[in-house]
Amino acid sequence: MPSLEKLQMYIDAEWQAPASGEYIETSNPFTGKPWGLVPRGNASDVDRAVGAAHKAFTSGEWPKLTATSRGHMLRRLGDLVAENADHLGEIEVKDNGKLIAEMAVQTKYAAQWYYYFGGLADKVEGGVLPIDKADHFAYTTHEPLGVIAMIIPWNSPLLLLTWKLAAALAAGNTVVVKPSEYTSASTLEFAKLVEQAGFPKGVFNVVTGYGQEAGEPLVTHKDVAKVAFTGGSESGTRVYEKAASGLKKVSLELGGKSPNIVFADCNMENAVMGAVSGIFAATGQTCIAGSRLLVQESIHDEFAEKLVAFAKTAKMGDPMSMDTQVGPVTTPPQFEKILSYMDVAKADGAECVLGGKRADRSECGDGWFVEPTVYTGVKNSMRIAQEEVFGPILSIIPFKDDEEAIEIANDVIYGLAAGLWTSDIGRCIEIPKRIKAGTVWVNTYRAVSYMAPFGGYKTSGLGRESGKDSIYEYMQTKTVWISTSKETANPFILK
Ligand code: NAD
Repeated sequence: MPSLEKLQMYIDAEWQAPASGEYIETSNPFTGKPWGLVPRGNASDVDRAVGAAHKAFTSGEWPKLTATSRGHMLRRLGDLVAENADHLGEIEVKDNGKLIAEMAVQTKYAAQWYYYFGGLADKVEGGVLPIDKADHFAYTTHEPLGVIAMIIPWNSPLLLLTWKLAAALAAGNTVVVKPSEYTSASTLEFAKLVEQAGFPKGVFNVVTGYGQEAGEPLVTHKDVAKVAFTGGSESGTRVYEKAASGLKKVSLELGGKSPNIVFADCNMENAVMGAVSGIFAATGQTCIAGSRLLVQESIHDEFAEKLVAFAKTAKMGDPMSMDTQVGPVTTPPQFEKILSYMDVAKADGAECVLGGKRADRSECGDGWFVEPTVYTGVKNSMRIAQEEVFGPILSIIPFKDDEEAIEIANDVIYGLAAGLWTSDIGRCIEIPKRIKAGTVWVNTYRAVSYMAPFGGYKTSGLGRESGKDSIYEYMQTKTVWISTSKETANPFILK
């Protein structure tokens, strides 16, 4: 077996080995074989990284930079991301199983967050208050928080980091990132670009390792001001609890069980593509997966038939091949989890009309592949309709009318996203108002942008990423009062 590539952590602008001396194997989901070794960081590494980030926040070059200079640096980073997009994309494919066809677009697009927030850095303004107290002048300023801990999942490592990082750096914070133990390679490679862009030492640090061993010490570190977490709801809840003991600010981007609602008056061809994009793109491993397809009764059978016919043609195999449409599952535990939900669906009494098993196709080699799977006869109360699977498993649920569609759509603990397919302008406007989700797509699905706020209702999270207001998730407001009076005030009376 060829020797495995040994990666190092990036702390205080140096490539460092973990204090434990131990490494975690990282694998290629297409071959099912390890290709590299990722440092198994622990509390001691976290302490070094937070120490470096804290020092960079409080002294040296970074806090002295103007917001305009920070903006320039971010735009330089955007250029570097765009120039290196193919290389970064290939690492995501090797380490994560992402499709090169999608990465070619996604990684280039990630540069836009650095341009957008780079431009925004010097447009955050405080205000002079028309204060109601005589002989006083008062104004507000927005200041960075300090060291931000960023905890990232495995499904879209660079993009999800970018959503947080661009805003946090634009605001003037420093950062320690803990990527997923399964997919750390792209973040470590990206650290080289941060250095090339000219960010001072200690502003950006990466500690790799497991959630409990490296993630938790980061969340609870006394010098971390805020935790920005993306991941599953269970770990998110634990992170929230742990952060509470230090009264840290927290933003959470968690799971989803998004409804994709198809009305009888839709453009059926488009809606079929939207349903496919909602659940089979990225092998269903997205928080915004439209895993509950609500179809109006009158077109249910025809729609299900068309969808299945199209999904059957989806090309599986090597994610490095530009025409592959469904790639492998990223991790072995996730692979097992998806297969176990096929048993759950069966036990619940759902009818499998496509897939329902691991993919046993020659083009899938030894990779972790599951067949695109569709269930009909699903009731919204079934586990397969209530729990996040995070894989290419679609549940089709029939509904009678608008009221029933809305009721089913909202009847889950999650509220991340929803889709709606209709040609009725009234529905396009009225239904989004009644859907309890942070994003509603009408006649489209899976659209995201640096300027569009993204985040969850209900248990799908706290806070918003992207969009100009998201910079305030990484800032705090200070009010300054200046007395202009020459007289001595009575100290016992509130001014
Ligand atoms: P996960 O929760 O298992 O892990 C996410 C990250 O948290 C990893 O880096 C992990 O090491 C770390 N972690 C785990 N336990 C921790 C702890 N106790 N303290 C600190 N860190 C800890 O999630 P995952 O399996 O990597 O990712 C899939 C999940 O992420 C899905 O539920 C998906 O919906 C969610 N997700 C949400 C969004 C969103 O924007 N809402 C985007 C992508 C993924």
